[in-house]
Amino acid sequence: MRECPKCNRHFTVLRVVSDVPRSNADGKVFCPYCEHFCGTIRVDPSRRFVVTNSLSLQDIKQEFDETLGYIRGDITWLITHSCLNYTIALLIGCGCEMLAACEGDTRKRHGEKVFAELLPAGELQVLADRIYAALRDGLAHGFDTKHLLEDDEEHQIYLSVQGPRDIKIIKPPERGVGLHIGTRPLAEALCAKITEFENLLQHDEAAQQRFLKARQPTAALNTSEAAAWRTLVAAAGL
Ligand SMILES: [Zn+2]
Repeated sequence: MRECPKCNRHFTVLRVVSDVPRSNADGKVFCPYCEHFCGTIRVDPSRRFVVTNSLSLQDIKQEFDETLGYIRGDITWLITHSCLNYTIALLIGCGCEMLAACEGDTRKRHGEKVFAELLPAGELQVLADRIYAALRDGLAHGFDTKHLLEDDEEHQIYLSVQGPRDIKIIKPPERGVGLHIGTRPLAEALCAKITEFENLLQHDEAAQQRFLKARQPTAALNTSEAAAWRTLVAAAGL
């Protein structure tokens, strides 16, 4: 699978044995969408290749399994085997962000929009952005939920995966008024959304392109880091 540096769309280069229309033997790969020159491929004259804009389902499946698939798998295991409330809520936040990117919001990745779809109707919809930020940002940056501030009064968020499933205002003894969030229904609804997107990926090419664009950007190594990397590779005897 390759990504065109000009139009950022993904395509597949297939090696073929026999001559077929649009086959290519000089090793130059051009983007099937915008025809931008996208580098070369090593070919011997008897094994030509074609550039195709249909992506390999196997490549897509592997990418899915290692991203949204892991999120769904981890959440599913954690909600049935653990009380790791913070980890589960953090994964819900990550999953919402990834799904938002898969819906085309690759730059800002507004996970709160997806999160709002997991919440019931009513006042919670008004609070959705703020609750999402309190959970996702609080947990990702400090592994603690942010308190909600209302008229100079702080309200804690209480997460529970094995307790009551609803979201409601509570007042624990000796504590202030807070928000109880039963995370299990949110987790289940997110996993259902991930499965829905997985099914879409099977046949919807636009969704496949959005999914590939939504992947994390690469972490490019600078010169000294690249040298250190190559030293490690050499030391591994590879
Ligand atoms: Zn292109």
